[in-house]
Amino acid sequence: MAGTGLQRTLSIVKPDGVRKGVVGEVLRRFESAGIRIVAMKMLRLTRKEAEGFYAVHRERPFFGSLTEFMSSGPIVVMVLEAEDVIARNRVLMGATDPKKADKGTIRADLADNVERNIVHGSDAPDTATAEIRYFFSDLDIVS
Ligand code: UDP
Ligand code: MG
Repeated sequence: MAGTGLQRTLSIVKPDGVRKGVVGEVLRRFESAGIRIVAMKMLRLTRKEAEGFYAVHRERPFFGSLTEFMSSGPIVVMVLEAEDVIARNRVLMGATDPKKADKGTIRADLADNVERNIVHGSDAPDTATAEIRYFFSDLDIVS
C-alpha cells in the first residue's frame, strides 16, 4: 500500500490505564514502533469536556457510561507523529473490544472490557486534526 506520509494522531491513555499503572507500557510500545511523541500532558476531563470529546457518539447507548468513565480520573493525552501513524496506532491498540483484539495489541494485553479499553486513538485524518486541536495548541507540539 502506498504510504500516507508523515501524520499526527491523538492518543489517550484512559483513566483505567493511568489507574493500572500502564502509562509507561503504552509509551514503550509507541516508542518501540518508531512513533514519536511530540506533545504530552496529564489532565482530568470534566463530564462536559468528555461529552464534548465524544460528541460523535452522543446518540449511542454507551454515551453516558463512557463519559462518566472518561471523567473518572486523570488521563494522559499525547500527539503521536510518524508515517501512517493514524492506522499504525489503531493496529497497536487492537479492536475496541479487547475480547476481539489480536494478541499482542494494547487492548488485548491490558484492557478489561469494551468500555475500559485503556487507549483512545483517532480514526482518520480529519478526526485526528480536530481531536489534537481539542487538547493542544500548535505551540504545545514540538517540531
Ligand atoms: N465503547 C463502549 N461500548 C461499545 C463501544 C464503544 O463503551 O459498545 C466505548 C469504548 O471506550 C470506545 C469508545 O466508546 O473506545 C469509542 O468507541 P469507538 O467505536 O470510537 O471505538 P474506538 O475508536 O475507541 O476503538
Ligand atoms: Mg473511535
